[in-house]
Amino acid sequence: MLNINEFRKYGHQFVDWMADFYENIEDFPVKSHVKPREIYDQIPENPPQQGESMDVIFNDFQKIILPGMTHWQSPNFYAYFNANASFPSILGEMLSAALGAQCMKWETSPAATELEEKVTDWLKEILGLPVNFHGVIHDTGSTSTLCAVLTAREKYSGYQVNKQGVSSFNHLRFYCSTHTHSSVEKAIRIAGIGSENLVLVETDDQFRLKPGLLEQAIENDIQNGEKPCCVIATLGTTSSTAIDPLEKIAKICAKFNVWLHVDAAQSGSALALTEYRWMIKGIEQADSFFFNPHKWLFTNFDCSVYYAKDKEALLKTFQMVPEYLKTKSDNQVNNYCDWGIQLGRRFRGLKLWFVLRNFGVEGLQQKIRFHISLAKKLEEKIKNDPDFELTAPRSVNLVCFRFKPTNLQTDVEINKLNEKLLHELNGTGKVYLTHTKLNGKYTLRMVTGQTNLKEKHVDAAWALIKECAGNL
Ligand code: PLP
Repeated sequence: MLNINEFRKYGHQFVDWMADFYENIEDFPVKSHVKPREIYDQIPENPPQQGESMDVIFNDFQKIILPGMTHWQSPNFYAYFNANASFPSILGEMLSAALGAQCMKWETSPAATELEEKVTDWLKEILGLPVNFHGVIHDTGSTSTLCAVLTAREKYSGYQVNKQGVSSFNHLRFYCSTHTHSSVEKAIRIAGIGSENLVLVETDDQFRLKPGLLEQAIENDIQNGEKPCCVIATLGTTSSTAIDPLEKIAKICAKFNVWLHVDAAQSGSALALTEYRWMIKGIEQADSFFFNPHKWLFTNFDCSVYYAKDKEALLKTFQMVPEYLKTKSDNQVNNYCDWGIQLGRRFRGLKLWFVLRNFGVEGLQQKIRFHISLAKKLEEKIKNDPDFELTAPRSVNLVCFRFKPTNLQTDVEINKLNEKLLHELNGTGKVYLTHTKLNGKYTLRMVTGQTNLKEKHVDAAWALIKECAGNL
């Protein structure tokens, strides 16, 4: 095992490597080109019996592992939604790894709990969220939504499902749009609600949930003896960043006394800009809300910030205090292990604190606003190009489009061509985009949200798209 002097030596060496990596990241193919099992087969069948030197291990990291990595931190990464790192965040992660603390209860690291309270409070101010929300940091958006679904279920059932099991409380109904992220259905399955009790409400021509249909669905369910429990609204859907009409949805939830959960996974970061606050009109009605700083707030994966209005309901859903976890401060502090699924918790607040302080609110606003301006410019170029068309309106930093040369007529032909275009583009190693289908149209998605993205990258990507499309 490394001794303290070697640890110091390699620590310095690795930080140098990290800085070089970021300086040269554009030399790597954005999307890894390795074939299935190519990495696995290069790693010895059996673990080493004797310890190996760090030089040998690090050499293998560079030789075997690096070619099998897709470079999410490349400014040429436009796929999915970003999972952004930034230098202050990486340094925060390093310190958190060095502390190696288990931050489950206040007593197991008071600073971790109190910093988590503070940064989630700061974020309420930064995003314009209600002051009566209580914040906690989870690993992912999927966990945040699962916590919301479980709490909604428990509150509705008078905390009986936790005691008697799901069969004691049938017919609970949940509602979301057909464009809601799959993590919602997954949560519904895990919570024992059953996918058939997730009502998918149709969307309008901009892929936003139709409130009229939501209201009708709830009314029908009540008439049929079902129990409307929770609505999930999305601010920035995964396919096209559609923004569900929160204010109208909130009114319907209030009318039927139904839990309102808001998924703002990626696009929630845009709330740092006051000009985007229209998205959360009606948020005071929401019972829970989350967004992922690990997407578009320059904080390393994982970091999902979840807010609950009713702290008591949250605790009644999740709190378990076996004897060995009782502490004398239990009545005076927040013990975040009681706020969610896991007992053991990472010190995620540290990297977030570093990001918020090092960027400053204005720094964050500048970057987010800049990313949105890049998307807007790209959107204009696509609008003005007769061989391309937008397939969805742009709300923040995602542009949805397709190649549509005038000689092709049917969607089947155009879809095939765009699928080919996507593979061609990603095969160049110069960019990485992903796709979706919108109204049956195979759509290329280009997210302008990478931490180090500049205008020249988007210009080069657009030139490459035109060139590849021209060669098809
Ligand atoms: N909600 C939306 C709108 C998303 O786009 C995503 C992921 O992209 C999620 C939820 C799930 O987030 P996570 O990957 O953190 O579980």
